Amino acid sequence: MVAERKQSAQRGEAERSAGGARPPARRAPLGTGFIFHERYLWHDTRSAAGFIPAGGMVEPDRHAENPDTKRRFRNLLAVSGLLEKLVEIAPRMASEDEVLRVHRREYLERVKKLSAENGGDAGVLTPFGPGSYEIALLSAGGALAAVDAVLDARVQTAYALIRPPGHHAEADQGMGFCIFSNAAIAVHHARAARGLARVAIVDWDVHHGNGSESAFYADPSVLTISVHQDNYFPAGRGALEDMGEGAGRGYNLNVPLPPGSGHGAYEAVFARVVAPALRRFRPELIVVASGFDGGAMDPLGRMLATSATYRSLTRMLVEVAQEVCGGRIALTHEGGYSTAHVPFCGLAVMEELSGISTGVVDPFLEFFMAIGGQALQPHQEAVIRRAEKQLDLLR
Ligand SMILES: [Zn+2]
Repeated sequence: MVAERKQSAQRGEAERSAGGARPPARRAPLGTGFIFHERYLWHDTRSAAGFIPAGGMVEPDRHAENPDTKRRFRNLLAVSGLLEKLVEIAPRMASEDEVLRVHRREYLERVKKLSAENGGDAGVLTPFGPGSYEIALLSAGGALAAVDAVLDARVQTAYALIRPPGHHAEADQGMGFCIFSNAAIAVHHARAARGLARVAIVDWDVHHGNGSESAFYADPSVLTISVHQDNYFPAGRGALEDMGEGAGRGYNLNVPLPPGSGHGAYEAVFARVVAPALRRFRPELIVVASGFDGGAMDPLGRMLATSATYRSLTRMLVEVAQEVCGGRIALTHEGGYSTAHVPFCGLAVMEELSGISTGVVDPFLEFFMAIGGQALQPHQEAVIRRAEKQLDLLR
């Protein structure tokens, strides 16, 4: 009885802090763009190549990074009625020159050649089939289209539901299912072609945004922030101490949260580290590397985030963007591997961006907000306190 009451009280508290039932704060004045292309679903990560061990001992499984989560995210937008209220923006192919702002020519040529043959592996855990070079260009071009639409004031915010993802790709190799570094390519475009002086990348994917970090590690004009599961993937990357180098020192912030971190930890990081960093840096555009693999149901992450978590993080980013950069946010899709959960996390983000509430109830929300460990824990607090100290380096 006592346990029951305690549980119900915890649930009540979780729901209150979740903000799940509250309608979004305000409508986006210029509307919210949405970028998608059928061909994103045709990128073939192979049934058993690379990631899932085959070896003849177990039935070949699907690759974790397959089209389903992306398709189902978009399907929920459509069925909920939200999709028709978004501004549809067509992606384009990124040019080779745009890709080469981040990647080496040898790497681009290798992917192009393998793609024209029978596919291969772009580097570490990045299998692909024939034709994926063009799809990867279209994926990077989706990020470019999102940035251009926001900078042209066609929309206030834009979400690029693109595939393959990008934030692990390094200059000379693909990594972690990522072929080209979509967010970094889009940020270079914003700087070089659109003349922006300062851009920020906020990466909430459960894995470290190593590709974005590498692209701007010595560059004080791009603030890169990654909130991820501590010491997970890639191994050895994403430490608190990795703060940028040379002139870029202080302009790379890593918040490696312990496995098991939930709603309270993510909210605390965004309220106490991410938002203050953005207020100090005052970017002219915020690019978000949006992975939903920090979700409580994700097969590749060990965190407890819910749709209410992503709703809350989005709300905080929208508010800070309105303060510092005219509300300009472009999101690029990254990971997220739960076919059941990703659509609801994605819908919550799109509702907050657009300021349009669909009334769709996340059937998992109440259950996951009530499980133990959603509140900020002392060992998570310790990490956040250390990250807060690094804000002093930001000017
Ligand atoms: Zn990820």
